[in-house]
Amino acid sequence: MARIGIAGAGVLGRLLAWQLARAGHQVSVVDPAPGPQAPALSAPAAGPRAAGFTAAGMLSPLAELDHADGRIAALGWRSIPLWAQVAAALPAEPPLMRCHGSLLLAHRSDLGSAQRVLARLQAAAGPEAVRPLDAAGLHALEPALASGLHAWSLPGEGQVMPRELLQALAEHATGVQWHWGRQVSDVRPGALLLDGGSTLTCDLAIDVRGLGARRAGLTLRGVRGEILWLHAPGVPLHRPLRLLHPRHRIYLVPRPGDVVVVGASEIESEDRSPISLRTAVELMSAAHSVLPELAEARLLHHDTQLRPATPDHLPHVHHEDGLLQINGLFRHGWLIAPALAQDALQLAGLHTAGHTEGAPA
Ligand SMILES: Cc1cc2nc3c(=O)[nH]c(=O)nc-3n(C[C@H](O)[C@H](O)[C@H](O)COP(=O)(O)OP(=O)(O)OC[C@H]3O[C@@H](n4cnc5c(N)ncnc54)[C@H](O)[C@@H]3O)c2cc1C
Repeated sequence: MARIGIAGAGVLGRLLAWQLARAGHQVSVVDPAPGPQAPALSAPAAGPRAAGFTAAGMLSPLAELDHADGRIAALGWRSIPLWAQVAAALPAEPPLMRCHGSLLLAHRSDLGSAQRVLARLQAAAGPEAVRPLDAAGLHALEPALASGLHAWSLPGEGQVMPRELLQALAEHATGVQWHWGRQVSDVRPGALLLDGGSTLTCDLAIDVRGLGARRAGLTLRGVRGEILWLHAPGVPLHRPLRLLHPRHRIYLVPRPGDVVVVGASEIESEDRSPISLRTAVELMSAAHSVLPELAEARLLHHDTQLRPATPDHLPHVHHEDGLLQINGLFRHGWLIAPALAQDALQLAGLHTAGHTEGAPA
């Protein structure tokens, strides 16, 4: 049994704490958040808090090939069954994870640019990975979509419910000591240095502070992302949708409670202020063009957060005796966290259960 100190209770911090506690280790976690619960929907985005709460929670190894290289997709395909194992071990209703595939959509006028994206995905994942749907096939899957859309199915993709999953991981991490409301000012081999001058000593210090680790010698930047929540009772949506558009990459993600999350901007700025008019108009008009029944949806919530990014947009994992750093998960944190954590723990000589590989047949 090792004594593990974790700085940061975001996606990685909570997943690692839950896994390491189940494996019998003595785990302490420090985070400035007031507690394990998701921030209130009305709370303004301020200060350090997990980007994981804001995320749409899409597990899209294929669609993300438009932005990322094959290493992210490989980590993503390994992570989907690992998330399924995690979700199955956590009691929750409705389920914390769904895996019904996702759809790429394009309006007829945007077909040219959509074909370019599809060609990139097929070059990376093979011609069979993205499957065209005819109008009847699309209507059978998603009857509320606008007519005349071109559509392709991405089988095997899924989604998690970020707010509920983050809270469940913390609540069911038996034996973990949570130090909420505390900042870690530095993470050194075998030690977390806390605000106020105290030190938490351990055998392995894990730094998963996202952008809060910027002073740990890492070149990190925050990339602004804005999203909207719509309340749309009676508008059926069963899986994440992505609209291929020459200027925007917009997605619609169904959540329990008749909620549709519409996202997201990707702006080179560390401004955490509320969503701009431009982004709100673009997201809402794109969403309405795909799902016309959203016209009477109510705007429930909007959120802005920063994605922690390295210069090459690949995750950073560093291990030395007594210290493990994992960061730079950028726009793929939910997608890749379980496989990345598994590899990092292996590097540190620690193992947790569960290992599955490969894309769906
Ligand atoms: C709008 C938006 C949409 C997204 N959608 C998706 C998606 O659909 N799919 C996907 O895979 N990813 C998505 N992401 C990306 C995903 O949210 C991130 O990659 C992920 O949250 C990174 O996880 P993390 O654990 O490294 O950091 P975080 O989740 O940001 O957690 C970092 C934690 O460290 C804590 N911390 C900070 N400073 C300190 C300190 N000094 N001491 C102690 N603790 C500290 C913070 O409070 C926080 O709890 C999205 C992100 C955004 C912004």
